[in-house]
Amino acid sequence: MSNSNTAGQVIRCRAAVAWEAGKPLVIEEVEVAPPQTNEVRLKILYTSLCHTDVYFWEAKGQNPLFPRIYGHEAGGIVESVGEGVTDLKAGDHVLPVFTGECKDCAHCKSEESNMCDLLRINTDRGVMLSDGKSRFSIKGKPIYHFVGTSTFSEYTVVHVGCLAKINPLAPLDKVCVLSCGISTGLGATLNVAKPKKGSTVAVFGLGAVGLAVSLFISCYLPYIYICDTFTACLGVCLCV
Ligand SMILES: [Zn+2]
Ligand SMILES: [Zn+2]
Repeated sequence: MSNSNTAGQVIRCRAAVAWEAGKPLVIEEVEVAPPQTNEVRLKILYTSLCHTDVYFWEAKGQNPLFPRIYGHEAGGIVESVGEGVTDLKAGDHVLPVFTGECKDCAHCKSEESNMCDLLRINTDRGVMLSDGKSRFSIKGKPIYHFVGTSTFSEYTVVHVGCLAKINPLAPLDKVCVLSCGISTGLGATLNVAKPKKGSTVAVFGLGAVGLAVSLFISCYLPYIYICDTFTACLGVCLCV
């Protein structure tokens, strides 16, 4: 279906639905309602699996909220926009982010915080902010959102403040990891660890986050010890 004939309509598409904690996801046909005020509906072209999805799917020790559509590291194209959305239009390439920015609260205006009052990550909420309802359903039964992104669906609805517009020339199959893992590694390096020039650092764990930390630290430190659970230490990386 083209963008023009789906705007304002319910879209039926496939999604991987988690019906119960720890049970295999099931590919279902879901209905995705049109975006409401300050919301955007997008077609997800690529999505990856992050351990945070697995953690909340297992639901060990958190509030279980099912049925739910997980997924938060992805790349997609805007299909249609709701009322009040002026920053994005159909056809724009975007990355969803689970910690969004309203651009108006004290946190958004501060250079020291990105914990937006409105759009900071909320793992307990499974509905949209504008009306407290889900945009996903199966035969009328609501299916809950996850961290405002729910990218394990061919179409999803996201608050406009939880989308980053990107250059359409960027390959979505590769840049989708900027949506969580790579940006987490970058933020941990530049905003939290802040390693001093000339220091030597060790990075434990070489998943997407650890690799991103190694990459960004390597830009300005000569030595990094990179370690993973499979070996005591994979080696010393000479970066200059
Ligand atoms: Zn993640
Ligand atoms: Zn804010």
